[in-house]
Amino acid sequence: MARLVLRTYPDSVLREECAEVTVFDEKLARLAADMLETMYTNDGVGLAAPQVGVSRRLIVIDAASGEERGKSPLVLVNPKIIESDGIVEWDEGCLSLPELSVIMQRKATVVVQALSPAGEPFELRCEGLLAVAIQHEIDHLEGKLLLDYLPPLKRRMVARDFRKKKERELEV
Ligand SMILES: [Zn+2]
Repeated sequence: MARLVLRTYPDSVLREECAEVTVFDEKLARLAADMLETMYTNDGVGLAAPQVGVSRRLIVIDAASGEERGKSPLVLVNPKIIESDGIVEWDEGCLSLPELSVIMQRKATVVVQALSPAGEPFELRCEGLLAVAIQHEIDHLEGKLLLDYLPPLKRRMVARDFRKKKERELEV
């Protein structure tokens, strides 16, 4: 397994609408494993393929904490929410927007359909952090970021700060 380079805003790959995965090969399995390692290394709850520069519909998630963390990581290929219910407020962060947190309104429970890296279909009913994380990661597959949920003025300010920060990084 290898740790991958995290793409951060305003990297343009984060704005792309990702393509469906159609080939379920060794390369896909390796990408999923590398994404999990990258997610754990960065202490993330989830990670979407565009966050490592791959514009494909693939996400990894582990909503467990403490000793349970790492025991049952989830890999969802071409995930699709087919049912949802209720509203929950959640304070979300994103590895591609370091240090930003946004109070989000998400669906409280979701039923998601996805494929495993081997191409096997499965369905998952989830709530709490797992449901929130799945919605957050699926947003990434549409090129959508936490930033987009902020009021317009705040959004422009935050976007400008991130761009400036990136420019400074590139100068060094
Ligand atoms: Zn994110």
